[in-house]
Amino acid sequence: VKSGGRGAYRLFDQAMRERQAMRRLIERDMHLAMEDGQFVMHYQPQIDLASGKLIGVEALVRWRHPERGFISPVEFISVAEESGLIGPLGEWILTRSCLDAAQWGGIKVSVNISPVQFREPAFAAKISRILSETELFPWLLDLEVTEGVLISDTEKVLDIVLLLKKLGIGLSLDDFGTGFSSLRYLQKFPFDKLKIDRSFVRDINSDVKDAAIIRAAISMGRTMGLRINAEGVETEDQMDQLSAMGCDEVQGFFYSRPVPAEDIPALIDTDFPI
Ligand code: C2E
Ligand code: CA
Ligand code: CA
Ligand code: CA
Repeated sequence: VKSGGRGAYRLFDQAMRERQAMRRLIERDMHLAMEDGQFVMHYQPQIDLASGKLIGVEALVRWRHPERGFISPVEFISVAEESGLIGPLGEWILTRSCLDAAQWGGIKVSVNISPVQFREPAFAAKISRILSETELFPWLLDLEVTEGVLISDTEKVLDIVLLLKKLGIGLSLDDFGTGFSSLRYLQKFPFDKLKIDRSFVRDINSDVKDAAIIRAAISMGRTMGLRINAEGVETEDQMDQLSAMGCDEVQGFFYSRPVPAEDIPALIDTDFPI
């Protein structure tokens, strides 16, 4: 038993070391990747369930590594946050997304903002500068934040949020339902949109509890004047159920995977199934 325990520990230790080595590689390569243009933005369509039209897209960053192929943002965003690279990377993501959206004439772009980025000094001023540099109307930009952004320094964060709202941009609460105290934040911060996490959408047709949570979120959001987006819609049955519940908009593989910017114009006049 004792040696088994040590064996298990050795395995764990080795996995930890490999993980750390991987993170160091990612950190080292990220500097180069920025200059070399290895990051690209993809955009996932957001469909209005009332009209079946494209109303916006979520901007999702991809890293095309020359040797390791596509690396998931789940792997490199946290490394970027820890190493300080999220500053320049986040600015590039925002600029690229706003430049692309400015070409689409009326389609909104939602950009994910990490907690570290949000707390940068003069974050609101940076957004304002990027909007004027890219000539994007502020109402076409939406920032997606998770509870992680709001959890500490609440008053300071509220000040930043109010500055952003004054610019006229939209604010969405991402991954709703996965945290611990979303309801307090919904009351305190002036969100425009609530994004229901895909873990609730997955079993919406079979799990009465997941369905009940979504129904409650939609009802509450409606009362608070929020738009409701459901993520991770993969089947027509999920879409039908969400539509029947009064969900405003959806995104997911049923409609489209995230696609390159040049694929978006063709989707603007498409009638999606609703
Ligand atoms: P997220 O913000 O919740 O983004 C949605 C994720 O769900 C995306 O994964 C998207 O490709 C995936 N997805 C969309 N529809 C479906 C579906 O129908 N089924 C399933 N199974 N998945 C679906 P992705 O692009 O790998 O991004 C993962 C996470 O990485 C994002 O989660 C976000 O937290 C972070 N991320 C991505 N891009 C950025 C970025 O530009 N900046 C920051 N700060 N974080 C980003
Ligand atoms: Ca998001
Ligand atoms: Ca999400
Ligand atoms: Ca239908």
